[in-house]
Amino acid sequence: WFANFLPFYALPLSLVMINLSPSMFDAEPNLSAMTTIYQWMTQIQKSNSELVTQHYLGKTTENRTMYYLQISQPSDKIKKIIWMDCGIHAREWISPAFCQWFVKEILQNYRSDPKIRRFLQNLDLYILPVLNIDGYIYSWEKDRLWRKNRSPHMNGTCYGTDLNRNFNSSWGSIGVSYNCSSEIFCGSGPESEPETRAVAQFIKKKKSDILCYLTIHSYGQYILTPYGSTTRPPNKNFGPLKITAKCTGTDDNIIPVLNIQMHVAEMAAAALMGKYGTSYKVGPTSLILYSNSGSSRDWAHMIGIPFSYTFELRDKGTHGFVLPPDQIQPTCEETMLAVTTIIDYVDQKYFPGGAVMLTASSLGLSLCLSVVLTWTVS
Ligand SMILES: [Zn+2]
Repeated sequence: WFANFLPFYALPLSLVMINLSPSMFDAEPNLSAMTTIYQWMTQIQKSNSELVTQHYLGKTTENRTMYYLQISQPSDKIKKIIWMDCGIHAREWISPAFCQWFVKEILQNYRSDPKIRRFLQNLDLYILPVLNIDGYIYSWEKDRLWRKNRSPHMNGTCYGTDLNRNFNSSWGSIGVSYNCSSEIFCGSGPESEPETRAVAQFIKKKKSDILCYLTIHSYGQYILTPYGSTTRPPNKNFGPLKITAKCTGTDDNIIPVLNIQMHVAEMAAAALMGKYGTSYKVGPTSLILYSNSGSSRDWAHMIGIPFSYTFELRDKGTHGFVLPPDQIQPTCEETMLAVTTIIDYVDQKYFPGGAVMLTASSLGLSLCLSVVLTWTVS
């Protein structure tokens, strides 16, 4: 029954699976969440071979293979990259579900949805559905609330590094522990973990082409911008971009756009809220959540990726990591709107078919009728 059920629904398998109680797997011992995600990746590539390819990224601590999916429309154009990873923290099950939902939605709608169609002409989407595979499996089989990877420490007396404290961004400085039994153990050094290295090496290699780094977590309902390791805001003329803002209309004042990342995140949160009324908080991690060092989001921004965001999906603590099945799909739907808002913005910014006009209300500005933001690549 189960084997027939999945292809029939053509849904991301883990979504369907999370909807079923884990006891389902007792009857089907060959099926595990991760196995079906591997199968799903192969399947999605086969049935969408004109658009999707699956690529090797690296190996986990326990020697499992990490793959990412690349969604690229064939083209002679030089394109840029949007990166999204899910499941860096094992217990945040809604996160891998969202990565799969995202892929499914793109593939289902890219022909009919003008927004997706437009950004796929300029942007390739790279999706890593489960970053912390060993931990994810452990959270299904042994400990539902496991967070870290499964690297052994102290002669195998304690396990796991928090991969989101293991990146080379002010590593080990704040919001971490050096105790390997801690949930936020930062590892023995920056990029000490094979999962971190696999992602970091790949991103470094491609960094001049990556415009946006998205990393999906739960829970709390936040869209978090850099930085976590300092309360200092990112440089407004960050990286290769010069950002100027000019106000037109009734008032000619120059509006200082201190953080375009913030405005884009606010637009994303507004789009998300439009679906089911779910409210998200937007802001720099260190100011609205907590300080942490060694996060992938901070690191991606520090090496020069202009847009870098952490999503913390539903909910706000009622169910926490164990989000009820009936919230999986609405969470994915609303998050899809936020993520495509960001991608759409980045696309129009870098591949302008004309100036991007933001209405005053979308920026929360009262002085201007409209704001034109011009970016030049130097
Ligand atoms: Zn997390």
